[in-house]
Amino acid sequence: MLPPDTSDKPYVALVEKLEHDGNNVDVSVRWYYRPEDTIGGRQKFHGENEIFLSDHRDVQSARTIEGKCVVHSYDDYLNLENVGVEDYYCRMEYNFITGAFAPERIDVFCKCDTPHNPDVFMVQCDDCEDWYHPACVGTTIEEVKKTDNYLCPECEEAHNEYFLNQSRTDVSALPTSNGNQAFPKASISSKCKQSAARVV
Ligand SMILES: [Zn+2]
Ligand SMILES: [Zn+2]
Repeated sequence: MLPPDTSDKPYVALVEKLEHDGNNVDVSVRWYYRPEDTIGGRQKFHGENEIFLSDHRDVQSARTIEGKCVVHSYDDYLNLENVGVEDYYCRMEYNFITGAFAPERIDVFCKCDTPHNPDVFMVQCDDCEDWYHPACVGTTIEEVKKTDNYLCPECEEAHNEYFLNQSRTDVSALPTSNGNQAFPKASISSKCKQSAARVV
């Protein structure tokens, strides 16, 4: 929807109801908040297209509607082949009075214990299957992309010790791995929490 200051990014809202009043059409909306508009502000793990469904409701003239966009569930968003300007995702709801998020906790990864940001590259360890920012484990994106089977420092050390303790003939007993993957393939099945919500 058209923001009061037209140089701002568009406001995103879920339209809950349309009401006709003579020639006017009003819409009851539930606002989505962008990270920078929350009490805590934008954090490192917030993606560029992340928004939060709030409990802040308003009635607006339908004339302020600029267009339609899609708010995806997080898993669906990760599986988009192309992310367009109309694509957003929502993985938390926001209480605009208290500044609280629901759920309060989301999964964290890497040594830095940070939630995933879809705009930031991470690599999965083939052994422990945690995800890491290359810089947090003393490497670079370029180095990581050169290897087919990434091992985080702890797992690499454990493997080296394993090698040292094995006779040559036992090497084939080492676990095999499937190579690096794009971020989560595992949790793709939970669909449609927010997907195709009607927003303006
Ligand atoms: Zn990290
Ligand atoms: Zn590991």
